[in-house]
Amino acid sequence: MMQWETVIGLEVHVQLATRSKIFSGASTAFGAEPNTQACAVDLGLPGVLPVLNEAAVSMAVQFGLAVHAQIPEVSVFDRKNYFYPDLPKGYQTSQMYHPIVGPGEVEVSLEDGSTKPIRIHHAHLEEDAGKSLHEDFHGMTGIDLNRAGTPLLEIVSEPDMRNAKEAAAFLKAIHSIVTYLGISNGNMAEGSMRCDVNVSVRPQGQASLGTRAEVKNVNSFRFVERAIAFEVERQIELIEDGGKVIQETRLYDPERDETRSMRTKEEANDYRYFPCPDLLPVVLDQAYVEHLRGQLPELPAAKRERFERELGLSAYDAGVLSASRDMAEYFEEVKTVCGDAKQAANWVQGELSGALNRENLVITQSPVSARQLGELVSRVMDDTISGKAAKQVFQALWNGQGHSADDVIEAQGLKQVTDSGAIEAMIDQVIADSPAQVAQYCDAEPEKRGKMIGYFVGQVMKASRGTANPQQVNGLLKEKLDALL
Ligand code: ADP
Ligand code: MG
Repeated sequence: MMQWETVIGLEVHVQLATRSKIFSGASTAFGAEPNTQACAVDLGLPGVLPVLNEAAVSMAVQFGLAVHAQIPEVSVFDRKNYFYPDLPKGYQTSQMYHPIVGPGEVEVSLEDGSTKPIRIHHAHLEEDAGKSLHEDFHGMTGIDLNRAGTPLLEIVSEPDMRNAKEAAAFLKAIHSIVTYLGISNGNMAEGSMRCDVNVSVRPQGQASLGTRAEVKNVNSFRFVERAIAFEVERQIELIEDGGKVIQETRLYDPERDETRSMRTKEEANDYRYFPCPDLLPVVLDQAYVEHLRGQLPELPAAKRERFERELGLSAYDAGVLSASRDMAEYFEEVKTVCGDAKQAANWVQGELSGALNRENLVITQSPVSARQLGELVSRVMDDTISGKAAKQVFQALWNGQGHSADDVIEAQGLKQVTDSGAIEAMIDQVIADSPAQVAQYCDAEPEKRGKMIGYFVGQVMKASRGTANPQQVNGLLKEKLDALL
């Protein structure tokens, strides 16, 4: 049996969060009435001139700096010529030969907690096209040009990924970086981030790359993995049956979970790129680049590293908690309030994330604030409440019943009873009420008694409505029962 190696390269399109278009003052707001946000420049009407949006340049450079890329002094916009109804200009303004961001590298975190560097070939600025709406009109296609001229950063990786998990991890790393920088909302469902997946296979050990297929416009982390899995199997089967992979563009269909051919290389467009005569080359001076570098926030890789080194979190916890800036900020506040990183990590990833997932909320929508959760964790750590009662307090805060953990503990009488007199009274009552179990306990082999004590602990905890300190109950019970032997 031949052993195959998979090779993957990604082209990621990120919609930049500028308020206006890349070459015009029209708004980029999502969800407006069709064709209310496309101005003469976006349509390329005769006589208009594009003006480059400085915010788009700044965002592209920030991305470049975040992936340790070279930022060339000069970059140039080119026209990519093709005809399509959603592109009334007849060309897309893009950057072909002199992109704004040169070669760089991203550290991606894999599921086992390890990291792998993936090289970035380059990233370039371009404008988005409009949208064709096929569903809304019977026998016709609608064209909405609101999206025309929206700024995109296209990030092109080297073919450094070797399986679907690595590709998804790369996409997640890009997602973290652009959202940390605040240069994109990263909303994949709204198309703010989408990617083309290039996949090939080659016999293990072969140095040259196999022929690739490019799967266009995959818009979720899961679909990236699915599309790759399908492609790898299709290509290996094809070659093993004596066929050859042809270079082509394919489409992933999530409903059927398969990729289908769109066009082969022979049918590929010749875009006749040439420098856009309407736009000057972009020249960035060193001071401008250094100014942006000085303003970069702490990025996901640095945060992950700090969480491990400074806070002593596991590689896995550090990876999860640093993946989104909002999550990281929430976690750090919980940690500051309760003073314990490990406890804070457990609560954020456990109770809180579980509740968020159940109700399909993101962390910024959490009804329990980081301060509230931090205070709750403190009350477990100082033994005011048991772990079990803490879950009850969390639920109450989640439902808006009380402003703080202390309010809820007070209102619901959840304070742990550590007064041994009160606990002893409850124990005496339980022993008096359970003569049969007490007799069994006394008759049992000594090594079996440890297990049997559980019944009594349960009864006392029940009598205290969960407020008795379980360790204390255990200790006192053992003393009292053993005195009866
Ligand atoms: P093109 O110019 O035709 O778009 P590029 O050389 O720019 O092709 O590559 C586009 C993307 O495809 C890059 O992300 C690159 O890493 C990836 N790629 C190139 N060759 C292969 C291959 N044989 N297998 C997998 N990915 C590849
Ligand atoms: Mg390309």
